[in-house]
Amino acid sequence: MAMATISTTSWAQTPVERVETEQQLVAITIDDGPHPVNTPKLLELFKKNGVKATFFVIGRSVKRDPELAKRMLAEGHELGNHTFTHADLAKLGDLEKVRKEIEDTQRILKETTGKPAVLFRAPFLSHDENVWTVLKGMPSINASRLTTDWSGDSTPQSIFDEATKETKAGDIVLMHSWPNKTIEAMPRIIEALQAKGLKLVTVSELLAAAKEKAADK
Ligand SMILES: [Zn+2]
Repeated sequence: MAMATISTTSWAQTPVERVETEQQLVAITIDDGPHPVNTPKLLELFKKNGVKATFFVIGRSVKRDPELAKRMLAEGHELGNHTFTHADLAKLGDLEKVRKEIEDTQRILKETTGKPAVLFRAPFLSHDENVWTVLKGMPSINASRLTTDWSGDSTPQSIFDEATKETKAGDIVLMHSWPNKTIEAMPRIIEALQAKGLKLVTVSELLAAAKEKAADK
């Protein structure tokens, strides 16, 4: 079906929320790190359980903790660009400011890890024309399973429910590195998703699985 096909052009001005795939893959995404305390905890947990995740990192936090950023990549995870200061890009209303947020982060990632990001996530999932202009076709990744781990009202149980209840192949789950309750919920989240037969992979691996499917047709 042409509808299931994801091409580079369809990413041009539309964030990716999920992918159509026949493979039992799900992508966990962790925003706003690297976090000096919680990110190492996540890395240990992911290593123990054979999980690969995508960390949408903040450029200035990478600059502050380059060794941790290198470790994340060395352990098989993906680092995506989440701007330099976590600015709400659509509210900036200025192409050059948007460009600086995104390109400064690409630069620090390249200096630190040897390679810039191939994926972007907008803070607050906030996009405008300037964002698409700067991205020039780089995929912007939203999510199909949005947790409210950022909210004071959420609990480890509610985060667990949001991350797992209806989650199925092709979904992208969004969480953050800084809430301690996310770290608390994560072992059960991994267990529940794996118990559904889902393999936890990076967003790039998930996108590649979608493209393979399209190429098969
Ligand atoms: Zn964020």
